Amino acid sequence: MTQEVNVKETITLLRRLQESDMEIEEINGKIDEIPKKREALNRGLQQYTQKVEEEENRLTDSRKERRQLEHSLEDHNLKDARYQDQLMQVKTNKEYRALLTEIEQLKGKIREIEDKILDLMEEAEELEKSIRRRKKKLEKNKQEVETESHRLEKEEEALNHQLEKRENFKRELENKLPLELLEQYNRIKSVRHGIALAEAKDGFCQVCHVRLRPQVYYDLRANKSILLCDNCNRFLFLREDEVVDPTKLM
Ligand SMILES: [Zn+2]
Repeated sequence: MTQEVNVKETITLLRRLQESDMEIEEINGKIDEIPKKREALNRGLQQYTQKVEEEENRLTDSRKERRQLEHSLEDHNLKDARYQDQLMQVKTNKEYRALLTEIEQLKGKIREIEDKILDLMEEAEELEKSIRRRKKKLEKNKQEVETESHRLEKEEEALNHQLEKRENFKRELENKLPLELLEQYNRIKSVRHGIALAEAKDGFCQVCHVRLRPQVYYDLRANKSILLCDNCNRFLFLREDEVVDPTKLM
């Protein structure tokens, strides 16, 4: 009877250890996600800041170009005034016509420059509007990132706390298990993708799905010894609530 109790208790300890390991793995997975989440937040903010900077640079260039055109316009207008003076002083019709052609060409250039200046003014206005809008949004984004970073910090703290609790619990379980069995558990876990236990249910190992020998079922129910699946070598266990008539498995 004592042995039966011990086997049952040992299996329960192993199952709890497996659960703890899986929980620890899950918590570690969540902790690993946090720096990635932080990075994504900052990357998003950086990209947005870059867009604002690009528009600001474009606005600076646009204003510079406009100033240059305004200087050029002044020069052209002075030239036009000079031509108008000359027009009063020409002596021949030929000279007069030649000067008129020059003036016409000059006027055409002046209109061209004025049009370009108007385009640049419109562009600058659009850019100023867009920059204002983006800066407002950027401020909002910064606040959101700050809030989210703070939340992540809290989450990380909570996860580390959970991890510590789980690890302490795991150590307690490990201390209760015979060293040899613990080593065997760790060996199976390391070669079997972290899963060292398998439920025996409906005549099959529930992890590798291989049919179990009826004798294995009998022995499991009898709790006489700790058994492994013949196929995947994981520790086998039966759930308390499972009622199986082994004769039906024959
Ligand atoms: Zn198996």
